[in-house]
Amino acid sequence: MKAVVFHQHGGPEVLQYEDVPDPRPGCGEVLVRIKAVALNRLDLWVRNGLPKLRLAWPHILGSDIAGVVEAVGDGVGGVEVGKPVLLQPALSCGRCRMCLDGRDNLCRQYAILGENTRGGYAERIAVPATSLLPYPEGLDFEHAACLPLTFLTAWQMVVRRAEVRAGEWVLVHAAGSGVGAAAIQIAKLHGATVVTTVGSADKVEKARALGADHVILYRERDFAEEVRTLTGKRGVDVVIEHIGPATFAGSLRSLAWGGRLVLCGSSSGPTAEVSLVDVFFRQLRILGSTMGSKADLFAVLDHVRAGRLRPVLDAVLPLSRAREAHERLEARGQFGKIVLVP
Ligand SMILES: [Zn+2]
Repeated sequence: MKAVVFHQHGGPEVLQYEDVPDPRPGCGEVLVRIKAVALNRLDLWVRNGLPKLRLAWPHILGSDIAGVVEAVGDGVGGVEVGKPVLLQPALSCGRCRMCLDGRDNLCRQYAILGENTRGGYAERIAVPATSLLPYPEGLDFEHAACLPLTFLTAWQMVVRRAEVRAGEWVLVHAAGSGVGAAAIQIAKLHGATVVTTVGSADKVEKARALGADHVILYRERDFAEEVRTLTGKRGVDVVIEHIGPATFAGSLRSLAWGGRLVLCGSSSGPTAEVSLVDVFFRQLRILGSTMGSKADLFAVLDHVRAGRLRPVLDAVLPLSRAREAHERLEARGQFGKIVLVP
C-alpha cells in the first residue's frame, strides 16, 4: 500500500510518500481501509522528535482516522465488512483499574495512534476491534476524521477538568486550532460566555460562527488586558490553554480569583515561568489534561449527530501532499482541521 513515512526526525521534508507492506489484522483486530485522516499538532511534534519518544522506523503519523472495515481477524464478532467506521485515536490495555474505571487515558499502556504506534497516513491500518466508534451518520469521511482527537481533548478539558457551568466566562486560545474550535463549541454547549483569540482578521467571523461571544486579535491587542476590559476587571473563570510559554503568564492574569486553567499542550515551548504568589494568593487551579476517556467520545458523537457540535474542516489534500499539509499547519494559516485522503 501507499503511505507517508519518515525514517528520521526533521522538518516536513522528511515525509516520504512510499510503498510499504500492507498491515494484516491479527486476532481481535480489524483491517480498515482509510478514507480520510486528519492532522493534529501532535503530528508535528512527533515528526520533529520528542524527548522520551522512541519510534520504530519507518514511522507513520496520523491519529484521526475514518474509513471502512475491509477485513476482520480471528475472534472478532459483530463487525460488518464494508461498514464505515471512525477510530478511537488511542489504545489502552482494557484490563487495568484505570481502564475499567473509564479513565483509559490514565492507563500505563495508553498509546496514541500515530505517536506510539503506526498511524493513519496510509491506505490501511489494522487496529483492535475495540477501537471502532459508531460512525456519525450524515458526515462524509473528511468531516468525520476531524472529530476524534481534538473533540475528545477539548471535552475532557471543558467538561471533566474545568467543569464549566452555565453563566461562567471561558477564554479559549486560538479559535482556528483543532482544540480551540472544539472547545469553543463545547463551552457554549454548557452555557458559558466564550472569549477567544485569533491571529488574523479573516478568522474573526469564523470564530463567531462557532459561537464565540468575543474575539480578540492577539497580534494587535494584549489579550489579558482585553479580557479584563470585557469582564469588568473580574477575569474569566476558566482558561483553555494549549499554547504554553507565549501565552501562559497572560492566561494566569486573565483568570478571576479562584479561576481554573486547563492545559493540554504547549505548542510554543516546554517550559513557562509562573508567579507562585499569583497562584496561591488568588487561589488559582492549574489542571493538566491529555486526551480523554473513550466513553466521552460517544457523548461527543451524540452531540454531533444532533447538530449541537460540528467538525471544522479547513482543507482536504491528497495523502501524497502531506508535506504541504504540514507546512500549512506549521504556519498556523489554517482554521480548523487539515485532512489527507489516500
Ligand atoms: Zn489499562
